[in-house]
Formats: sequence, C-alpha cells, structure tokens
Amino acid sequence: MYRDIWCGELRESHAGSRFKLCGWVFRRRDHGGLIFIDLRDRSGIVQIVFSPDVSAESHKLAHNLRSEFVISVDGEIRLRPDGTANDEIATGKVELYAGNLQVLNESAVLPFMIEEAADASEALRLKHRYLDLRRPELQHNFVIRHKTTKSVRDFLDSAGFLEIETPMLTKSTPEGARDYLVPSRLNPGFFYALPQSPQIFKQILMVAGMERYFQIVKCFRDEDLRADRQPEFTQVDLEMAFTDSAEIMALIEGMIAKLFHDVINVTIYTPFKVLSFKQAMEKYGSDKPDLRFGMEIADMGDLARLSSFKVFLDALDSGGRVKAICGKGMASLSRKEIDMLTEDAKAYGAKGLAWIKVKGGFESPIAKFFQNDVLQQIAARADACEGDLILFVADKESVVHNVLGRMRLDLGKRLNLIGAGYSFSWVTDFPLFEWDEEEKRYSAMHHPFTSPSYESEERMLQLPVEAFQPGAPSDILSSLTAKAYDLVLNGYEIGGGSMRIHKSEVQKRMFQVLGIGDEEAYKKFGFLLDALQYGAPPHGGIALGLDRLVMLMVGASSIRDVIAFPKTQKAVCQMSGAPSAVDQKQLRELYIKVNAPL
Ligand code: ASP
Repeated sequence: MYRDIWCGELRESHAGSRFKLCGWVFRRRDHGGLIFIDLRDRSGIVQIVFSPDVSAESHKLAHNLRSEFVISVDGEIRLRPDGTANDEIATGKVELYAGNLQVLNESAVLPFMIEEAADASEALRLKHRYLDLRRPELQHNFVIRHKTTKSVRDFLDSAGFLEIETPMLTKSTPEGARDYLVPSRLNPGFFYALPQSPQIFKQILMVAGMERYFQIVKCFRDEDLRADRQPEFTQVDLEMAFTDSAEIMALIEGMIAKLFHDVINVTIYTPFKVLSFKQAMEKYGSDKPDLRFGMEIADMGDLARLSSFKVFLDALDSGGRVKAICGKGMASLSRKEIDMLTEDAKAYGAKGLAWIKVKGGFESPIAKFFQNDVLQQIAARADACEGDLILFVADKESVVHNVLGRMRLDLGKRLNLIGAGYSFSWVTDFPLFEWDEEEKRYSAMHHPFTSPSYESEERMLQLPVEAFQPGAPSDILSSLTAKAYDLVLNGYEIGGGSMRIHKSEVQKRMFQVLGIGDEEAYKKFGFLLDALQYGAPPHGGIALGLDRLVMLMVGASSIRDVIAFPKTQKAVCQMSGAPSAVDQKQLRELYIKVNAPL
C-alpha cells in the first residue's frame, strides 16, 4: 500500500500518529540541517521534514529529490513549532517527520514549474497538459465537474429519466454548424457525421416510448472557435414525453438549484426570471442578457420624433429606432473619452453615437434640436440624474440593439456594476424563423424540429404555398414564434431547448417553409418523418452546455480550463498533435485521395 491517508487530509488531531503518504515533490527547501518538502497529491499539500536525527538515510536521499519526483514516505505527524504554521493551506498546522523514504520515480527537468504554470504560454501548457493538469486550481475544476455530473445524474435519475446512449457515427443533424465527417470503409464513398447533438435520436426515443431520456454527451461542431467554444463539447441533453415548456423549465430550475447547493453550496432561488425574446432585446439588446445589473435600454423614438435632429428623424423615417442608455456619473467624461466611446459604438456597427450630459442643465451638441421639456422627458425615461451621461444610437433595430447591448456590458464593467453571484433567467418566445440576408432565405432559429407556438402553428399551416421562402423578409413569417426557451446565466447562454413538432404534417410544412423539398427532407430526416407517423407523443427537451456551466461555477474565464484535453483556436490538440496526416494505406482502404497541400 502506497498511502494510508491523503496529504490534504492531515490535521492537528493526527499529531503523534504515524502515516504513510505518496505524491509528487512540489517544492524543496534545503536548510542545511533539515530538508523541507511540500508533498502534493490530488487532495492537497503537506509539509514533510527530513531530519538526520529521525532518519539519516532518508535525509541523505532527500538531497537528491527534485521537483515532481514521485515518492512514498512514512513518518510521524507533529504540530509545527509556534510561529511556523501556514494559514494558507488546510494542513498548515502540521508536518510529517520522514522515516522511510522511497523514490518511486524521477522527473525530467520541467518545461515550466507547476506552481508557475499559469504564467507559462498556453501553447506550452497544452503541449504538456499532464503537467498543467497537476495544478491544484485545475484539479479543483475537475472535482467540480465530476460533482456536477454526479449531481445531475442523481437528480435526473430520481425524476425518472433513463440514461441512454445515442450513436456517435450517425447522419448529419441540423444544428446549423458544419459536420465532422467520418469515412465508412465498408461503404466506400459514404460518410458518417459525428453528432452535432443527439436531437433526432432523442426525439425518436420519445416515439419509442422511453418517456424520459437523458445523456451527458459529447457533441461535435466544426465551427470557428472562440473563447467559450470547442469543436467537441459536452451537453447535458434530455427529452421528455407528455410535457410542456413550463414543466421542463421547472425541472431544470430544480436541477440547477440542487446542483449549485450540492457542488458549491450556493443557494439559487427559483423560479427564474422569464423574459420574452422581444423583452430581452428591447431592454438589454441581447437574447442572453446579463441581469446582474440594470442599465436598461430606453426607447426614445417618440421623443426623438419631437426633435429637429435630422439623424434621428431619418432613422425613424426609414423604419429604424432611436434608443438610449444612461451611464451613471459619466457626465464628467472629457470630450476625448466620449470620442473613445463613439469609436467603440462604431466598431460594434453604429454610424455614430449621440450623447447628452445632465450637468446643471443639458450639455450636448444635439441639445439645440430639442425643446427643454423634451430633454426633461428624455432624462426621466433614461433614468438619468445630475451627473449622468445619456448615450443614443439611431439606426436599424438590429444595429441599435446590438450596439447598445454591447455598450451596456462595457459600461457595466467600467462602472463596476456587475456584482458577484449567479443570475439565471429564461428567454422564451423566440422567433421561429430567422432571415438569412446572405442566402436570402429563412432558416430555423433553433432547429427545424422546434414546435411553433399554438397560434403560429395555425398560421403556418394556413399559409399559401407562395408564402414559403419569399425571397425577402416576410412580415408573417418573421412574426411566427416558437415554443423555445434558452437558459441564461450571467450573460451566457448555457442551455437551449424547445417543445418539438410531433405531427408529421407540421414537420413537413416546416421543411417546406425552410425551402427543404420533400425529397431532400426525406433523404436527410426520413427516419424521423417516418417515426412521427406512428403515434409520436407530444414531447420536448433541452440541452445544457456542461463546459460553460462548470466554467461559470468555478469562475474560470475559458472553457479550456474545465476540459481535460482541449483544442486550440485552430482545433488542434497540442499534446497529441491531432489532427494529423494518415498513412496512404489507410486512405486507400477508404478510397480517399487528399488534394490539400500536405
Ligand atoms: N439539440 C439542441 C441543441 O443542441 C438542444 C435541444 O433542443 O434540446 O442546441
């Protein structure tokens, strides 16, 4: 046996007893007479003292110990002498006086010290991920991740869900990203797609009478990567028959509350705030609003109408919007600082930024276009008092919301308004369709299996054929809404789901509107369309992004810190070197010829 207790478990109550420990040499200090070692295992760190009076042999051997050598050591636990306790570690009041020391393995010179790993370049850390992962901070992240999946499993198990695996070698699922393809050797020229999500299979499990399914599952999307994206990521995926949106939302709230209590001992109050997509966009300029602070966006259209300011009037005349946010205490900004804000607004897509300072009156290049009582009303609506700065954007609605939404977040940070804590909300009633300006067609905002709301379904079924794929945005199609709900935490979308279409005629109509012809629909999703004909129950579900959720729970800034072996922005695994070229023989067996310059 290598150990009879873990390093991090030792306390004052153990003083006087003998224990055997094992782990890695974290730090070594040679004080001539005594040699001190911080021994680290997954549970924590404890100080080992090598004294020639206790064991001359071990003391001699300890001279050769270097960082990350693997050792096993036994000895007596003693209280540290007065004044030498280390309050920063849980074992800081005790130390082990080494008796027998065994060096189990040596370590080559490290590319970076474990305790200084955070300062090493990310490329180097990812190349030697096994060393990076020895960092206590990262080990903590994986403890939290493990506890999270355990809590979720326990919760869903007690709510009657079955964990069922769905295939990894599958057909393309339409989640809107590119597929990772896998060639089939036995079917030359044919490819599997790695699942972007188990969407279709989980719906078919509902048709199959499984009633409640869940899976903690890898999904693959070949997208350009950002800080919180990875080509393979994990979802807590679930689906339920005979249910409705309210039941699924309540279930997830219960799961989250238990999870935060079990894993990080944080109380989360339910029910969560619910905002419609429209409200979220109007007030926060985002469909994943950070509700840890206010600073709501105010509509100034009617008041702008009363002005003679051409930029505002033109925007309104061409169907656009004029809206504003208030920067508390920001009337003191210099002209130069305001110019910098204007540059930000331009970078976000605005043509410019209008502003009014409330400073013993109204100070602004545009004040002259407004009557004083209108300025008063503007200030009241923006919730601006003496000392505040009102910022306006006038443009197309989508531009106004995007720019002010982003500026709200910037100002929230700048003014230190974003408190600690976890602010959950639901965003519901999403549009069913989204106009794709480039392709000049509608696509499904969530995915094409999402059920329209009751009235939208009626209207969609009544649409004349010429209304499908109109070639330009259509008022009717744009106004249809979905029974979809996104779960938002602190400005991040951490989950999304919907009620599904369970009638094949509605599903067929959905494909028609999306310009997916019968033949194409059948080729791609025929198995779902078939299944829907045989007594499909009403059903719905959701998927939560596990990586993002754990990232927020541990306060990490990137999901790479909660994924054991993440990939870089270029989708490369620095450690294994994947993706890599393969043997000609392998390619020949797959009937594949590579054209790319290798
Ligand atoms: N399949 C969806 C996704 O991956 C989630 C869902 O609708 O359940 O986003």
